[in-house]
Amino acid sequence: MAQDTLFTKIINREIPADIVYEDELTLAFKDINPQAPYHVLIIPKKAIETINDIKTEDASLIGQLYLVAAKLAKQEGFSDSGYRVVMNCNEDGGQTVYHIHLHMLAGKEMGWPPYTNNKKVLI
Ligand code: 5GP
Repeated sequence: MAQDTLFTKIINREIPADIVYEDELTLAFKDINPQAPYHVLIIPKKAIETINDIKTEDASLIGQLYLVAAKLAKQEGFSDSGYRVVMNCNEDGGQTVYHIHLHMLAGKEMGWPPYTNNKKVLI
């Protein structure tokens, strides 16, 4: 069983967040330290620690994270200009919160490759 993280507290409204979308399975809220003009985190309500812990039965739940990203992109006008979604895994991937989350970044042209010398991943 995954440990509760601060994202569980956000799901349970124990700590505040700027929530932009919610359904039965997922929640999306603004990142507290945005790396792009629009930066939201899309999370499953089910606590899954890392990509490595995703089970076959979670496949549609993971798909739902992408459907929410596309929905938000359409709503915010980023569908055509483009955006980036990224999920970090463990230390080298830059993961700091151990409840999987899809970063959705938009509103500027993204760089590639997505790494820098000082290790933090998102551009
Ligand atoms: P990771 O580094 O695990 O891929 O991403 C974790 C993200 O969670 C970071 O981008 C960080 O800014 C964000 N974050 C950390 N704590 C909070 C918080 O309390 N509220 C919100 N909204 N975002 C947070």
